[in-house]
Amino acid sequence: MKRWSLKVKLTVLYTFFMTLVTCFALGILLSLSNQELLSSVQSDLRRQVEGSLEDVEAEDSWLEVDSDFYDLEDGVYLSLYSENGEFLYGRLPYGYDASPQFQEGQIQTIQDNQEEWYIYDISHRIDGYGTVYFRGITSVTRAENSMTITIRFAAILLPLLVVFMGIVGYRFTRRTLLPVAKITETVKKIRRDEDLSQRVGLGKGKDEIYQLSQTFDEMLEELEEAFKREQQFTSDVSHELRTPVTVILAQCEAMLQYPEIEQKQKDQVEIIEKKARSMARMISQLLMLSRADQGRQQVQKEWLNLSELTQMAAEEQETLAKEKDIRIFTDIWPEIYAQADESLYIRMLDNLISNAVSYGKKGGYVKILLYEEGNMVKGAVEDNGIGIPGESLEKIWERFYRVDTSRTDQEHSGLGLSMVKWIVQVHRGKITVESREGKGSRFIFQLSKD
Ligand code: ADP
Repeated sequence: MKRWSLKVKLTVLYTFFMTLVTCFALGILLSLSNQELLSSVQSDLRRQVEGSLEDVEAEDSWLEVDSDFYDLEDGVYLSLYSENGEFLYGRLPYGYDASPQFQEGQIQTIQDNQEEWYIYDISHRIDGYGTVYFRGITSVTRAENSMTITIRFAAILLPLLVVFMGIVGYRFTRRTLLPVAKITETVKKIRRDEDLSQRVGLGKGKDEIYQLSQTFDEMLEELEEAFKREQQFTSDVSHELRTPVTVILAQCEAMLQYPEIEQKQKDQVEIIEKKARSMARMISQLLMLSRADQGRQQVQKEWLNLSELTQMAAEEQETLAKEKDIRIFTDIWPEIYAQADESLYIRMLDNLISNAVSYGKKGGYVKILLYEEGNMVKGAVEDNGIGIPGESLEKIWERFYRVDTSRTDQEHSGLGLSMVKWIVQVHRGKITVESREGKGSRFIFQLSKD
């Protein structure tokens, strides 16, 4: 039952109960008609026997029987007996052998030759002859046979009725549950497109499902508002923080220029400068991501030589790499052109390469590849550093996610890869990662050329 859809469950339930009710109603109906049929057979029998009394008269001590007496009206066989039970005139049904005792004015039911009979007797005194018995016999089985036909007909009709009820039930349930399907579809769309502006939009209706859909739409409205407020807040905060951080950086640089500054103070200012730089980096990443969320981040694509840009990005990281005794190798095809946003492309590579260096092994290497395949520019940034544990591979793209805060310095915020992913998406591409803990990682990206 658990695996069945609600539609099927409701249809089965509906069909089951409808069949039950139909069988019950049919049962009562058939039993009532059977009783009605038998009582009408009995009253026909009585009427025929009572009506036959005038068909027999006596003349000169002989009985004269009217030809009507032999007619088989309403299926009733009439016969005449003497007072001591001797058959005189009349008709007996074919196959009827029984001749029970007379029971005046009472209907007897007897079983004979696998057939059931009703028998009705009346004694009557005929002037000039004496007392005789009038007997009427009619077959109950034959009367019931007409009922059997009705039952057979019902038995054939019932499965057809069940199928019909099933089809009607299914269509009706499907129609009723259509709004639920619409709600599910909307939720799926929201998840797939990460777009909270979607609405179920069933309009006004009074039933529970319409109310649910309305409540759902209202909830989405509130959620969207809350998200927008949060995005605005992040954007405002990042914006407001930019100026003070720039001032701190400028002041640090100025202080470091003083010739009379002592080494200890110089070290302290350098720490402040380093922290301020990482703050500035984080603020700029946050600002970009919140603009991207609001659809305000500008993407200016132009026909760029990505081979040159990639080479440049690799060279810029040389100094940082040397500090960790890491060698940077490049395998870049020349003259690869594509429609891309220059600053975004550089940001993407900077992030990937600086991660590879930061999480690289002392004395290790970083490999940067770039080539083209059809309409796609493909590339990879590979290192033989600490790698990423399997359970974190999915999560590294989330904002502020860092695998293990103890394995990096405080300069890392966990925003870099979310930004990289967004940049790849606006270039109609995709990015994946392969990594083994302790062995290294490889980030593989592809971007559309146009
Ligand atoms: P962060 O600013 O912390 O580097 P990212 O979003 O760039 O943030 O990366 C998220 C997390 O993914 C990092 O904290 C790090 O644990 C892991 N990671 C990213 N690149 C690599 C890499 N080349 N090698 C090992 N781990 C990596």
